[in-house]
Amino acid sequence: MSKRELLDVIAAEVVVCRKCRLWKTRKNAVPGEGDPNSQIMFIGEASGYWEDVKGKPFVGAAGNFLDTLLSEANLSRQNVFIGNIVKCRPPKNREPQPNEINTCTPYLERQIQTIQPKIIVTLGNYSTSYVFSKANIPFNGITQAHGEFHKISILDMRVTVFPTFHPAASLYSARYKERLIQDFRTLKHELAQEGLI
Ligand code: URA
Ligand code: SF4
Repeated sequence: MSKRELLDVIAAEVVVCRKCRLWKTRKNAVPGEGDPNSQIMFIGEASGYWEDVKGKPFVGAAGNFLDTLLSEANLSRQNVFIGNIVKCRPPKNREPQPNEINTCTPYLERQIQTIQPKIIVTLGNYSTSYVFSKANIPFNGITQAHGEFHKISILDMRVTVFPTFHPAASLYSARYKERLIQDFRTLKHELAQEGLI
């Protein structure tokens, strides 16, 4: 099967999944989307209101800002893959709980193993903490880890992880916004060096 077909199989399982209680309150699960052959994956947290309505990742206000950041790094939704650690919206946008993360992340892991990205950009504390714990690396918060390239082993793969802030943080803090913009400049520079953009 091609990468596209394998991702379609995963997505088909996600949209009917009832493995944790979040299925009861979701409108639509959000498997994630993008280029199956991309070398770059972005990992967010969980859906908010609009993602739940549309079944697509990052389509609300944080998503608009992510689009701007992507285009400034010479990227677009069409040439990266974007997914979340938890595929259904937690009620009232509460934080995802450990049991929900544990139950849902096997889907993300299959997506990562299928795509085999060179670079994983983790957006925010939750996805960074999840990826670091998979690699047995201590995680001391996004403020410490962001803006640097961490070469790690996860799921029997060598991959470079680049943590940054969650784009939603930029909606309420000019300081986070500035840091995100700066991190995406760093990312752009590295991607250009690697010949990935
Ligand atoms: N925040 C996320 O982490 N993921 C989305 O898909 C939307 C908002
Ligand atoms: Fe299934 Fe994940 Fe949705 Fe829970 S959050 S129901 S594990 S797809």
